[in-house]
Amino acid sequence: MCPARTELARAAPGAAQRATSPEAARRPAVFLDRDGVLNELVPDPSTGLPESPLRSADVRLLPGAAAGAAELQSLGFALVVVTNQPAWAKGKASREALLAVHQQVVDLLAAEGVALDGWRWCLHHPEALVDELRGDCRCRKPRPGMLLDAAAELSLDLERSWIIGDSDADVAAGREARCGTILVANPSSAHRRSGSPTPDAAVQSLPEAAAYLRQRAHRW
Ligand SMILES: [Mg+2]
Ligand SMILES: [Zn+2]
Repeated sequence: MCPARTELARAAPGAAQRATSPEAARRPAVFLDRDGVLNELVPDPSTGLPESPLRSADVRLLPGAAAGAAELQSLGFALVVVTNQPAWAKGKASREALLAVHQQVVDLLAAEGVALDGWRWCLHHPEALVDELRGDCRCRKPRPGMLLDAAAELSLDLERSWIIGDSDADVAAGREARCGTILVANPSSAHRRSGSPTPDAAVQSLPEAAAYLRQRAHRW
C-alpha cells in the first residue's frame, strides 16, 4: 500500500466500512498504553520515580481520559489497551495485585461509559526474579507482539490503526506494527522519553490525541 493510501485510510475509519474489499472487514484500532495515558502514575516505593500503580486503591484516571477514549470509539476505532506490567516479574507486586489494578482501570472507564474492545499485558522482564517471566519475549514493548496478537484476534487493520503512549517504547512498538504513533508528553513520565523514535504527533493528553485524530478524519 502506498503512503498516501495508508494515510487516507488511517484518517477515516468510517470510509473503509463502506468499501467492498475483504480488507474492509478489518477494523482500525487505537492501541492505548495504560499508565500515564489512561491513569495517573504513582511514586515507586523504592525509586520515587512515577510508575504504574501497584494497588487498586492508587488507581486514578487522568483528567479527560474517559472522555478521550469515548471520542476515539465514536470515531470508529476499536480500543485495545497494551501495557507492560513487569512488577510481578521484579518481585514488587503479586499477579493478583496487578490484575486488581487493571480491573480498577477497566471499571473506572466503564463507569464513564467506555467499554474496551480488548486488552493485553506483558508480564515479562529480561531480569525477572520469577523464573517463568524472565527472558526475551516478543510482547514487551518496544516489541510489537501485543499489537500483532490483538490484531489477529480482533481482526484489526494495523495500517489504519494508531498507538497512543507516553514512552519511546510505545512509539517504537507502534511503528514496528506499522501503526500511526501519537506520543502523550505526560510530565510524570519524561524519564521514559528521549525523543527517539519520533512520533507522528505529540500531544499533552489523551483528549488531545482524540482531537488530533478527529481533525484528521474531518480533513480527509
Ligand atoms: Mg505509559
Ligand atoms: Zn512479554
